[in-house]
Amino acid sequence: MFIDGATTLAGVMGWPVAHSLSPPMHNAAFEHLGLNWVYVPCPVAPEQVEAALLGVRGLGFAGINVTIPHKSAVLPYLDEVSRDAQLLGAANTILHQDGILHGENTDIQGFLRSVEEIGWSLTGRSVVVLGAGGSARAVCLAAIRAGAEQVIILNRTGDRAAQLADLLTPVAGETVLGALALDDPLVPGVVAAAQVVVDCTSVGMYPHHEVAPVVPGEWLQAGQLVCDLTYNPRRTVLLQAAEEAGAATLEGTGMLVHQGALALELWTGREAPVEVMRSALLLALAE
Ligand code: NAP
Repeated sequence: MFIDGATTLAGVMGWPVAHSLSPPMHNAAFEHLGLNWVYVPCPVAPEQVEAALLGVRGLGFAGINVTIPHKSAVLPYLDEVSRDAQLLGAANTILHQDGILHGENTDIQGFLRSVEEIGWSLTGRSVVVLGAGGSARAVCLAAIRAGAEQVIILNRTGDRAAQLADLLTPVAGETVLGALALDDPLVPGVVAAAQVVVDCTSVGMYPHHEVAPVVPGEWLQAGQLVCDLTYNPRRTVLLQAAEEAGAATLEGTGMLVHQGALALELWTGREAPVEVMRSALLLALAE
C-alpha cells in the first residue's frame, strides 16, 4: 500500500473497532483494483458520533462503514437515508459526496447475495429467523424483499419477536409474518417445517462458542438450508448440528463479504473483487 497526497480515505466507525475484519478486506480490494484508497479503523465513543460524522465531511472521507453500537445513532446526522435503512432504523454504510452524507444498509442485500451465491433462493420459501436484534431485522427484510412465502421470527424474548413482526407488517406484501417465543411448544414443529433457518442470535459466538445451539440438531433435517450469521467461529455449533442432520449450511462470512462488497461498490463505482475480499477476510479470521 502506498499512501500519498492523493489517497482517498474510507473506514469503519465503531466502539470498539480494533477487532474489525473490514480493514484487511477493503484494503485488499483497493489494492487489487489499483485504487489509491485506504480503509482505516475509527474508534468512536458513543458521545462522539456527531463529531465523527462532521469529521467524515471535514476530512473528506469518501465513505465510512458503521458498526456496533452506532448503526442507529448515526441516522439523525445524515442528510439522506435510504428507504430500507430508514425502515430498519439502522445504517451500516455512509457515502459522502460533495458534503452530503447518504446512509445505506447493505446487510439486507449482503445476506441475499450470500444465499444466492451458494445456489439457494428465498423466493417462495418458508423462512425461520432465530433472534430479533439488529441482524434479524435485516434478514427478515431481505426475506420479504426476496418474496419469501412466510417468515417466522423466533426469539428468546417473545415480545421482541412480535415487535419485529409488527414493524415489518406494513412492508410484508404477500409474505406471511409470524412471531413466537423460542420456548413456545409450537417451535420444534415450526423449525422442522421450515425450508430455510437463519440464526441471527449471538449464541455460539467466540469466546462462548462451546455451548448448545439455539435450536437442537434433532429439529433440523436434509433438504433445509441452515444459515448462521455468526462468523467467528466459521463452523458454529448450529452449523455442525445442521451438517450432522444432513442440512445444507451457510456460514456468516458470506454476508460479511457481500455487505462490504456492496459498500465498496457504492463508494467507488467499481465492481467489487468479491473473492479477493473473501480471501483477505478468511486469512484475518484465521490469525
Ligand atoms: P443483537 O442485536 O444484540 O441481537 C442478539 C439476539 O440474540 C437477540 O435476539 C437475543 O435475544 C439473542 N440471544 C442472545 N443470547 C441468547 C441466548 N443465550 N439464547 C437465545 N437467544 C439469545 O445482535 P446482532 O447485531 O443482531 O448480531 C447477532 C449475531 O449476528 C452476532 O454473532 C453478530 O456477530 C452476527 N452478525 C453477523 C453479520 C454478518 O455480516 N455475518 C452481520 C451482523 C451481525 P433477546 O432479544 O431475547 O435478548
